[in-house]
Amino acid sequence: MKKLAISLLFLTSATCFAEELSICAPNSPQPEIKQAVKWYRTSAEKNALYHQAYLVATNYVKNWVKQHHPQAKSWGVSLDIDETVLDNSWYFRDCTDLAENESDFSHYVGNPQKSVALPASKQFIDKVHQLGGYVSLVSNRDGTFEDSTGNVLKTTIANLKQQGIYFDQVVLANRRDSKTPSDKNPRFNAIQSGDYDASQMVWSNQLPAHKLIAFVGDNIQDFPNFKQLKQDKLDVNDDSYAIFGQGNFILPNPMYGSWVNNALK
Ligand SMILES: [Mg+2]
Repeated sequence: MKKLAISLLFLTSATCFAEELSICAPNSPQPEIKQAVKWYRTSAEKNALYHQAYLVATNYVKNWVKQHHPQAKSWGVSLDIDETVLDNSWYFRDCTDLAENESDFSHYVGNPQKSVALPASKQFIDKVHQLGGYVSLVSNRDGTFEDSTGNVLKTTIANLKQQGIYFDQVVLANRRDSKTPSDKNPRFNAIQSGDYDASQMVWSNQLPAHKLIAFVGDNIQDFPNFKQLKQDKLDVNDDSYAIFGQGNFILPNPMYGSWVNNALK
């Protein structure tokens, strides 16, 4: 009996080992990101999702204006930049090593100014302007970074302009002085209060304080008071998700994001 149990155990582990070998090629460098980059750069599904999200956002903003009859420039929207307005997937296609942090990301990805406008992003931004709203681009790119390849705030603005993205202000992270540079809430508050803190953020220019009525991003932390860690513990149908499609509009990013550190379930 004991012998049989041992043989079964051996057989079971041998089968598992064989299955593992047939599924996972040894030393395969980050196959997940390769597939994700291919999906992001080539799939019709990705393009359709951007059109879908921006159309839902456009309809939301149009309806809000129709219902509230706001004065021009008394309101606005916040959009993230990377993988929301600008497509940086060329970097992930060309570079086998990923930028290890958002400061590296800022100059490796931002400074070359090679990123292109994402589907429907320009049309959404133009519509917000036409309806009388401000457009703030709130990004975690490091506004304090500067080296021989450029100053991140300047190169970001140049890339946006080159792509025909018309914005009213750009507000970046201050990775040199802030203890919580990835937290966008102080920047959302600054836009709404008019009180900008240089130790927390770097900005192109300040706008008069105005209400933010919509947020667009590819990371759950592009939205006020959302944290990846907190959401990871909640039910998939938690009430907190009800605002998506109704003020918060999210886009797909299978290449990187705050989700990368979640444990596989
Ligand atoms: Mg982003």
